[in-house]
Amino acid sequence: MNTKTNKIPDSKGHFGTYGGRFVPETLMPALIELEKAYRKYSRDKDFLAELGSLQKNYIGRPTPLYFARKLTELIGGAKIYLKREDLCHTGAHKINNALGQALLAKRMGKKRIIAETGAGQHGVATATGAAHAGLECEIYMGSEDMRRQSLNVYKMRLLGAKVTEVNVGSKTLKDAINEALRDWTTNVLNTHYVLGTVFGPHPFPVMVRDFQSIIGKEARQQIVKAEGKLPDCLIACVGGGSNSIGLFYAFLKDNIKMIGVEAGGHGIESGEHAARFAGGSLGVFQGCKSYLLQNDDGNVLGTHSVSAGLDYASVGPEHCYLRDLNKIEYTNITDDEALKAFELLGNAEGIIPALESAHAIAHTIKIAPAMPKHSVIIINLSGRGDKDVQEVAKIKGITL
Ligand SMILES: *Cc1c(COP(=O)(O)O)cnc(C)c1O
Repeated sequence: MNTKTNKIPDSKGHFGTYGGRFVPETLMPALIELEKAYRKYSRDKDFLAELGSLQKNYIGRPTPLYFARKLTELIGGAKIYLKREDLCHTGAHKINNALGQALLAKRMGKKRIIAETGAGQHGVATATGAAHAGLECEIYMGSEDMRRQSLNVYKMRLLGAKVTEVNVGSKTLKDAINEALRDWTTNVLNTHYVLGTVFGPHPFPVMVRDFQSIIGKEARQQIVKAEGKLPDCLIACVGGGSNSIGLFYAFLKDNIKMIGVEAGGHGIESGEHAARFAGGSLGVFQGCKSYLLQNDDGNVLGTHSVSAGLDYASVGPEHCYLRDLNKIEYTNITDDEALKAFELLGNAEGIIPALESAHAIAHTIKIAPAMPKHSVIIINLSGRGDKDVQEVAKIKGITL
């Protein structure tokens, strides 16, 4: 009989059949060093005190849990609350992780951090963490994303980071990750790789989840204080899966409906989307076994989303595991639906959401009316929309 407890993930980072550590031998020592350091510092009083203090005084936590009264009245049905990660320093949840990893890198004696970025948000967050911690910083970014997010590129440079253009493949996030992994392999002694979401080889999916789980810890206390009960439903967009798992994690034992919203792009039938659970299959990609958009020969497919942060071919392994357990369900929202929600929230509440977060709002608009008035939905508003305003204007044919 197997008497071992089924620890999730196991010591090699497997969430059931998902996850793991599919990397070249040259990266194994770095991952093992990181895993050890993370295990040590995630229990270290000094480290946790420093992180806690910076979460409060630098990031601006706890972020508010805001009752969106007008949105609720407009849609009808369930009461809608917004967890305001858009109010974090740098404008999105990504800083929760980037700052945590920058502090960890410093404790590990690293002099330099590198990162990849898609929407530019993780790059800005990492450059910010590096500036704060006094570390050198280099950010890899696909040229297509650099075009879409030119403002963020300049911000990173202002923050003292070197931004390196990745002009290969689809010129987006996945190619930038490959370049960052290549850099890490070469410079592993003095460099830490700040992965931006709950993806990649172990221990990243666990470590990033832990740094983001502050979102759900706060939201749980906040909703109990506001409503005297737990919510009925949690909704968040899923790129790699860090803001969603960050909200969901503290509620996993509570039997609450949780919905992850992927990028439906131009629709699943069009093939131009990033809905891994709708159109993907099991595969190994960038260090990790997970759902992946691939063709029959195992070549990774091009993806599309109006939001750069959701435009990725794979998804965090823990999401696959929790989906199999029926703990989280996944759906997708098209570009057009997200754009409508983007405008609606600005109008109704005076809050312009990131296009990523607009996917979560769009799904809420679909399901809230059928829910009773006393029921409660929390949406993770993962980021603010300032970065997307120019691109939306362009799509609408408006000259600024
Ligand atoms: C990067 C990003 C996302 C997607 O990443 P996750 O890891 O799935 O959270 C969502 N929203 C915003 C605002 C982002 O910047």
